[in-house]
Amino acid sequence: MIPVMVPRLGEEEAQAAAEAVRSGWVAQGPRVARFESRFAERVGARHGVAVSSCTTALHLALVLLEIGPGDEVVVPSLSFIATANAVRYVGATPVFADVDPITGNVTVATVDAVRTARTRAVIGVHQCGVPFDLVALRAAARRWGVALVEDAACAAGSTAYGEPVGAGAIVAAWSFHPRKLLTTGEGGMVTVDDPDVAARLRRLREHGMNVSAADRHASGRPVLESYLETGFNYRMTDIQAAVGLVQLDRLTDLVAQRRASAARYHELLADVPGLRPVRDPAYGQTNYQSFWVLLDEGFGATRDETLAALAEAGVSARRGIMAAHLEPAYADLAPATAPLPVTERLTRDSLILPLHHALTADDQEHIAGVLRKLAAG
Ligand SMILES: *Cc1c(COP(=O)(O)O)cnc(C)c1O
Repeated sequence: MIPVMVPRLGEEEAQAAAEAVRSGWVAQGPRVARFESRFAERVGARHGVAVSSCTTALHLALVLLEIGPGDEVVVPSLSFIATANAVRYVGATPVFADVDPITGNVTVATVDAVRTARTRAVIGVHQCGVPFDLVALRAAARRWGVALVEDAACAAGSTAYGEPVGAGAIVAAWSFHPRKLLTTGEGGMVTVDDPDVAARLRRLREHGMNVSAADRHASGRPVLESYLETGFNYRMTDIQAAVGLVQLDRLTDLVAQRRASAARYHELLADVPGLRPVRDPAYGQTNYQSFWVLLDEGFGATRDETLAALAEAGVSARRGIMAAHLEPAYADLAPATAPLPVTERLTRDSLILPLHHALTADDQEHIAGVLRKLAAG
């Protein structure tokens, strides 16, 4: 079976994790601090605050912005469900916006269409690594007086307007789940530019303490901590950060390799009728975290028939991005949700093809061959 995704983990990661264990310092410590500053630098931000996942990163971003009951936060329905869930963690209401059919991302127009006087924030998602038009959306958010949180879970190594995604964001949330390019097992990061905001985030992820456990330990004299606000335990471990530091060294190569494989898919699939693969937007480059294709009326099989045929041919593909508004967890919002025709079309008719460092040219030819046969009906 050709897997849809394989994390790039080697002996270096195993050694780094073992060293962290042998050092005796396994909870958040010096490796987390190093990983934070190196990751932030790589994505063009001034400060990084490591957390346990992108889900907790999104939660902290909304706590930071003091969003709560009575507030609305505009999110794409077409995203992993964690994007919408974070809004509910703070007691606010998610409002679903439709997406652009080419990028799969929210736009100024789709957000504007569902925005109300109660809208306090927007979570824009750089879906599957394809950057949304951050220059346009950041400017619109400023004009509207709402905060823009960037869900960059999938976007480490993507660029927009010549800069890494993450540069210039007020607050961005990242994931290191093995389904993304760079993994620490589980893990996440919040990146910001403002040092005071970074300090508040560090406090929030560690029970609201005024001094971190690591600093207290390193100080050598008794430090009596105090708890300034109700925080969380959203810390990353030093074992995870040790792996993350090695992974970070691989990121540039991984993106280059993904982009080369994606270019080969584009070539192989160019003559397949009724199939449109994801591409770079005009203003940037995706890291191709996921290679999704959209099937239209001209294609000779439904999405589910296509998934079944691929599985039969030894290819593990996946349905495209889910739509939160169609899930039972969000059924109660249905009466208030505006029509989302593009979201529903993309989630129904798209699928994700295998793309990872171990995928060979032969694998890709095999996959394209299956799709070409299906296209003919
Ligand atoms: C994976 C993902 C998340 C959640 O990341 P975790 O680190 O698993 O919590 C959130 N948003 C998007 C868009 C994702 O793809």
